[in-house]
Amino acid sequence: MRVIRARTYSGFCGGVKRAWNRAVKAVDATDETVFLSGKLIHNTPAMQELAGRGVRALEESDVAQGMAGKTILMRAHGEGPKAFERARALGLNVIDATCPIVTAVQKIALQLEGEGYQVIVFGHRDHPEAKATVAYTERGMIVESAAEARGLPHFAKLASIAQTTMLQADYVELVEVLKTKADLYEDRGRICGWTLHAQDEAVELAKGVQAMVVVGGRDSSNTIQLLRVCQAHGPAYHVETAAELREAWFEGLDTVGVVAGASTRESDIQAVIEFLTPLGSDVGDPEPVLA
Ligand code: SF4
Repeated sequence: MRVIRARTYSGFCGGVKRAWNRAVKAVDATDETVFLSGKLIHNTPAMQELAGRGVRALEESDVAQGMAGKTILMRAHGEGPKAFERARALGLNVIDATCPIVTAVQKIALQLEGEGYQVIVFGHRDHPEAKATVAYTERGMIVESAAEARGLPHFAKLASIAQTTMLQADYVELVEVLKTKADLYEDRGRICGWTLHAQDEAVELAKGVQAMVVVGGRDSSNTIQLLRVCQAHGPAYHVETAAELREAWFEGLDTVGVVAGASTRESDIQAVIEFLTPLGSDVGDPEPVLA
């Protein structure tokens, strides 16, 4: 069986690499626990690796013992201004691991509200990035779909931005609705380039293989979008680790594609490829992994 990996956009994106490197550097610099404002990135195996190195979420019981001088990493998805204020008030050494692309979106939200726009954040209501972004506004609201947008009232000034890992096609659909909901509408939403390219690459790969494996966190928004675009072209299996793969899924197949979310460790991708490569070697002439 031929195993083909998405060549460019699979595994840690720039924002995750930056957050991960900051976490590792923080851990190396101290013997004490390094705290997190929440899940640094949405990938359980990666978070387990960090936990093994003494990195964990801050809890109220920690706060009761005094936090002065201790280190906290603000998650890659960003935190609202109140979380930063509280961390500093507690005397924590704050390391901001927010992806700079997310920070830019937060600034746009603030600016748009300052200009009198009702700000709409297209995203998942429970996702930390959307929640943090909307927290930079006073009146902003999260809208999850075009269908939800149809129920909005009419506004004098309306502007939309997007959680960086949404599906572009879904955002375009939302924009078409929002255009009808205001006297003046401004579209400032930009899906992150890594996410867009990864979705395009996944589609191209999925079109040319018989099944896809999507490696990434169960709570990872960009991974779930990759799964969606792959499923539109055939069977696609979502796993966090190679241990979840089943040989039966690939029986009789000649080609399988592998893509990975932006917070998936290289070691987890390689383990999936190692699982898949030998499958089918008894039925013909296996070709090497293209990685
Ligand atoms: S997917 Fe894009 S926005 Fe999200 S962390 Fe990576 S680079 Fe930043």
